[in-house]
Formats: sequence, C-alpha cells, structure tokens
Amino acid sequence: MYRDGAPLYGGGPVDMNLSFCPSCRRAAPDGEICLSCGLPCTADAQDYTEMLLQTILSEETNRAGMAVDVLTKWVHEPRAFVPLTMLLERNSDPFPLVLGARGLGWLGNPEAAPVLSFLLLDEAKPYVARVAAAEALGSIGGEFAHHALKQAKGSPRSSVADAAMRALKVIEGTPKIAVDHD
Ligand SMILES: [Zn+2]
Repeated sequence: MYRDGAPLYGGGPVDMNLSFCPSCRRAAPDGEICLSCGLPCTADAQDYTEMLLQTILSEETNRAGMAVDVLTKWVHEPRAFVPLTMLLERNSDPFPLVLGARGLGWLGNPEAAPVLSFLLLDEAKPYVARVAAAEALGSIGGEFAHHALKQAKGSPRSSVADAAMRALKVIEGTPKIAVDHD
C-alpha cells in the first residue's frame, strides 16, 4: 500500500502510541487494559528505557533504529516485544516492517514466531520485510518458526524462498538443546 507523496509511515493517523501501566509498568498500546492489573495503560514514559521503548514507534527512522538496537542487542529489554510487534501489525511500509522483524529476531522471544510467520507468508507484503522475517525466525528457532520457514520455501518470490532456505539451515545446524536434552 503506497500512497503518492505520503511520508514513510503511510501518513495516516494510525494509533501508534505506546503507554505504560501506571502500576506494573507493562508496555502496551495507549489505553489498552493491563492484563496483570486491570488498569488502563495510559501512563507516559518514566525513565530512559521507557522513552526508548516509545522511540521504537517514532516516525524518525534513525531514532527508531537506534532505539531498537539499544533495547534488543545491548540491554535485551523484554518489553520491546510490544512496540516491535506493533510495528509489524500496524504497517504496510517496508522500513518499519524490516525494523520490527529484525528487532524481534535480536530480542529472541519465541512468542514472536507467529507474527513473524504471518509476515513471512504474506505474499502481499514487501519482500524485504519478508526476508527480514525469515532471518528473524532463523535466529528465534523452534517448531513454529521451522514450520513457517518450510512453507516459505515454496514462495514464488525467489528472494523470500532463498531467505527461508538459509534460515532453515541456521535452525537445522543448531544443536537442538531443548528437544534432545535427555
Ligand atoms: Zn499492570
């Protein structure tokens, strides 16, 4: 979905605000009810980490990219899962999709496998984002990722099919610690 003259994020007033639970500081789309406390998540950022979490959704792509790097590669902030998932679910533009997919791969939370798989297998999504999703699934691993990547090998997009094959090699080449533990 590209609109002429629209800014990178599509230009629409898409609700992309991240807020926090006033009690447990869970990160959530603004106004969503906290699953732990039952309170609406409407609190603003309180510290530097929370400001960075909000910056993931910034329309300034350099700042967003920096925030993703810091929160996933350096400090491994588990709350980054929510804004990164929002990038994948609320965009059709390549840059935020790639950023979200890479960030979820670096974060390594296996709960990201379904949302990454939907992106990977959606032939209507930009292929660069789908390649990024394949790579992220390769580093996350697990049964869900494995299944989606096997399916993506049959994509008519050769770049996506190739990326899926590379990611499968990464998964299959990794010792299956969780499975073969006994
Ligand atoms: Zn809470």
